[in-house]
Amino acid sequence: MRPRLARYPKLVRNYRVLAIESSCDDACVTLLDRKSTQAPPTIVFEGKKTLDSAQVGGIQPNQAATHNRKQMPGLVKDALKHAEWDKPDVICATRGPGMIGSLGAGYQLAQGLCIAWNVPLVGVNHMLGHMLMCRLQYNGTKPQFPFLSVLVSGGHTMCVLSKSVTDHQVLVETSDIAAGDALDKCGRILGIRGNMIGKEMERFIQEHNNQCGLPDLLHISEPLKNQAGRKDVMQYSFASFETQLGRKIQQLYGELPQDDDLIARLAYESQMAVFRHIITKVKLAIRKYDLDIKDFVCAGGVGSNLTLRKMLKDELGPVGIEEFYFVEPKYCTDNATMIGWAGIELFEQGYTTELDTTVIRKWALPDLLKLYGWKKDNGSCI
Ligand code: AMP
Ligand code: ZN
Repeated sequence: MRPRLARYPKLVRNYRVLAIESSCDDACVTLLDRKSTQAPPTIVFEGKKTLDSAQVGGIQPNQAATHNRKQMPGLVKDALKHAEWDKPDVICATRGPGMIGSLGAGYQLAQGLCIAWNVPLVGVNHMLGHMLMCRLQYNGTKPQFPFLSVLVSGGHTMCVLSKSVTDHQVLVETSDIAAGDALDKCGRILGIRGNMIGKEMERFIQEHNNQCGLPDLLHISEPLKNQAGRKDVMQYSFASFETQLGRKIQQLYGELPQDDDLIARLAYESQMAVFRHIITKVKLAIRKYDLDIKDFVCAGGVGSNLTLRKMLKDELGPVGIEEFYFVEPKYCTDNATMIGWAGIELFEQGYTTELDTTVIRKWALPDLLKLYGWKKDNGSCI
């Protein structure tokens, strides 16, 4: 029989984690078995139910919240049944940032289960989950702090310098929409459909890859470049890509051309313009802050794009980055495994969250520990 945990919060050696993610339109549940702190946890169960928003042209917050509320209890039940666990020892749930209704669907269930089972809660920052996911397979030994990350998803785009699990400095952040949102909007203009348009666009370009080496048709200009009176702006701006693409199509063709090869070419150019902007600012951050960082992480849904990965390696290698960490594509988009792992990293440093806490729409990484509700002991494990 497994040794039972004598007394919370002094957990010893092995414990089992229920992880819940519900910040947007995915209801996700993962079970992790932390058999030893010397090896990565075993992934016992992973479940995900995504709301199909393809028909309505984007995520509707109310529908996403209802979807998560409906799906989450069944997923948790299935997970425990599959693993033959009566209950976990710790619950890690996304507390923010994200859409309030969606977040609440998972977090409130987690709070209720923590009360019912008398187990601790870890309220996890969603972006921390994305960032730390690549450390799971190395059991937290790599990438080593300090490291630099670019987190590129449908809701966020930022370049972050991390000195520890809880110490993060955002060097560049978007002043308007996120890179993934910009890709989705460009994709829609080009007639690309689906629930994950950036991904469909990558596939469409790959299927017509003879278009990639041709001369530029669109000449999309990069936002926030240096010009008279403006130098080294440490910000992203992705809102103009959609407008630029729409205007150029209008000027060049009047309406969307019906030629798939040409559409792939336009998609490729739009995608490249977005990626160039992401990388320009990472390079600027390295230069401006004179960073001597060897390890680099790219995470978030857009981070699964192979062209972006190659561009990052090609362009950041020469400015001092030695090791690149990319997560498996299925862990780039939202999932509960990343929340479980980030929760484990926090929990083993002694952090748990009070039960009388609420979810939060905006929760910047530098404010990770400033949010009310943390409890800290001297390290819950070993
Ligand atoms: P996330 O918000 O982290 O779940 O990521 C979702 C965003 O990533 C959406 O905007 C997707 O269009 C985008 N995305 C997912 N896969 C890819 C891909 N392979 N290439 C570009 N964008 C992608
Ligand atoms: Zn995300």
